[in-house]
Amino acid sequence: MILRNSKLKFLVHLYTLEGAITDTDFNKLSEETKKDLKEITNYSLKRRTGFMARVVKNKELVRTRLATNYGGWMYCDMCNENIGYLCYATYDSLELKYKCNCGNQGSARLDFEDSKIGQDCRDELVTIKNRFCCPKDNEPLITILDKKVASYEMKITCKSCESIYKKMK
Ligand SMILES: [Zn+2]
Ligand SMILES: [Zn+2]
Repeated sequence: MILRNSKLKFLVHLYTLEGAITDTDFNKLSEETKKDLKEITNYSLKRRTGFMARVVKNKELVRTRLATNYGGWMYCDMCNENIGYLCYATYDSLELKYKCNCGNQGSARLDFEDSKIGQDCRDELVTIKNRFCCPKDNEPLITILDKKVASYEMKITCKSCESIYKKMK
């Protein structure tokens, strides 16, 4: 209900703004303009709810710690070194197995109540400032600190396009 109300409010704001900019009474806007504005509303509300707390479904951390419930810095539980950083709002599921430089073999598995199954994608993740990002929408997903781990195997699903990426060392 809250969502519906805020959607309506948002839409009315946009209509009014558009009306003011184009000097049109807001109830005389063209159907096409209204459609555009509706799309913008849907998109931005989707983004906004995406940043709300998410409900974790499966969570399995083996000899690994995570700074918060489902994101932030990841630490090896044996040597306490940080091995990477997991972005909070952009992934749908993560499977990570790694061997830390200290010899520890750790792993992390996480997904959410609303996670989609996703489809396998052969594209390579792109690296932007040491963060692996989705090549389709540039969403930042995860950082693995290469110098801290001897090897790793990872599968991560981008929440926004539902692609599943694989990466290993
Ligand atoms: Zn370690
Ligand atoms: Zn994506």
